[in-house]
Amino acid sequence: MNVLVINCGSSSLKYQLINSDTETVLAKGLCERIGIDGRLVYQKAGLDKETTEAPMPTHKEAIQLVLDALVNEKTGAIKSLAEVDAVGHRIVHGGEKFASSAVITDDMLKAVEECNDLAPLHNPANIIGINACKSLMPNVPMVGVFDTAFHQTMPKKAFLYGLPYEYYENYKVRRYGFHGTSHSFVSKRLAEFLGMDINNSKIIVAHLGNGASISAVKDGKCVDTSMGLTPLEGLVMGTRSGDIDPAIMEYVAKKENLDIAGVMNVLNKKSGVQGLSGKSSDFRDLEAGMNEGDDRCAAAIEVFCYRVAKYIGSYVAALNGVDAIAFTAGIGENAGIVREKVMGYLEYLGISLDKEANKSHGEEIVISTPDSKVKVAVIPTNEELAICRETVALVK
Ligand code: AMP
Repeated sequence: MNVLVINCGSSSLKYQLINSDTETVLAKGLCERIGIDGRLVYQKAGLDKETTEAPMPTHKEAIQLVLDALVNEKTGAIKSLAEVDAVGHRIVHGGEKFASSAVITDDMLKAVEECNDLAPLHNPANIIGINACKSLMPNVPMVGVFDTAFHQTMPKKAFLYGLPYEYYENYKVRRYGFHGTSHSFVSKRLAEFLGMDINNSKIIVAHLGNGASISAVKDGKCVDTSMGLTPLEGLVMGTRSGDIDPAIMEYVAKKENLDIAGVMNVLNKKSGVQGLSGKSSDFRDLEAGMNEGDDRCAAAIEVFCYRVAKYIGSYVAALNGVDAIAFTAGIGENAGIVREKVMGYLEYLGISLDKEANKSHGEEIVISTPDSKVKVAVIPTNEELAICRETVALVK
C-alpha cells in the first residue's frame, strides 16, 4: 500500500510517499513559505531534487501542488491519485486524549482541537493540513500520529509537576513529552538490533537533534521523558534553554525590560547552544569553532553533553538499571564527539566506548565494546516510516 506522510507546520509542509510493503520512499519533499509566496521541493526516488516557485496562499494549494507533482507525467512517482491508499498525519499534541494513533474522523478532529491550547503554534497548523488533505482526497483513509502518545504510559509520579494540583485538574498542566514517534521507533529497533526481548528490557533513548529529548523505556513502555508541558523542558537544545531556574524569567524580564512573550522568545529561540556559543545552533559549526580555539563553542558542547549525561543517570535510577542506550537524530547519529563525551560520564555503569565504531556517521551500529556492561548503539530515527507503519496498522 502507498502511504502519503504529511508533517504540516504553520508555513511549511514536509511529505513522503512511502510504499509500505517494501518500506521504500517513492518521493519526498517539502513546501515552504506557505501564505507568503510559495516554494515546492519535490524529489522522486533516484532522481535529482526539483525546486519550483509557485503561489501557495494556503495549505490547500500547497497540498494540491504536492499531489500534482506526485502524478506528474514525467517525474511523478505514481500514475494517479487512486494509488495513494492512505495518508498519515503527524500531530504534535494529543494531550491526555490520545495514548495511541487514531483514524481521523470529525469527532477525532474535535478532540485534537481541544488540545490546541497546549500547542498553540503546532496543532492548528496540523489541523489545517488535515482539512486541506480531506477536501482534496475525501475518500482516502487518514490517520493522526501524535508526538505525545508514546509518553502517555508515564506514571503520575513522573508526569506531575510540583504545582497546585488544581492546575493539573483544571488546565491539564502536566508533563507530556514529545518526539514520541521517534522514541517509540528507536526503542523498538534498538531491541530488535541487539536481539533483546523488548518486553523484558530497560532502554534509554537519547533523541539529540535541534530539538532534543531523552526517554526511559521499560518493557517497551515509556516511564519518563525529558520534555514537559511543552518542548522547552529538559536538555539544553539548539536554541532552547531546557531546564532552568524558573525565577530567572522574572529576573531577566526586569533586567532586559521584557514581557512574558519576550522572555519565552529568548528561552525558545535565543538560548541553548546558540545562546551559549553566540555563534550557531549547529554542532558542525560548534565543533569547528572549538577546534579553532573558541571557548564559548567548547563550553556550549560541554554544557550540552553534561546535561545529557545527567539525564541518562537519572533515568538509570528511574529504571533501576539499564540494559541498552540508543543515540539518535541529527546530533546523536552524527556527532561522535557528543557520544564520546556523554559516554565518558557513564563509565561508572561499566560502559566502555568502541572509539573506532564511534567514528561512524548516520548508520546503525553498536558503539560500546563487547565487554561493556551496557550496550550502546546509534539507531537512525525514521519518523516518517514510523508514521507510515502506524497508518497501515490502523487502516488495513
Ligand atoms: P535534527 O533536528 O534531528 O534534524 O538534527 C539537526 C542537528 O543535527 C543540526 O542542527 C546539527 O546540530 C546536527 N548535525 C547534523 N549533521 C551533523 C554532522 N554531520 N555532525 C554533527 N552534527 C550534525
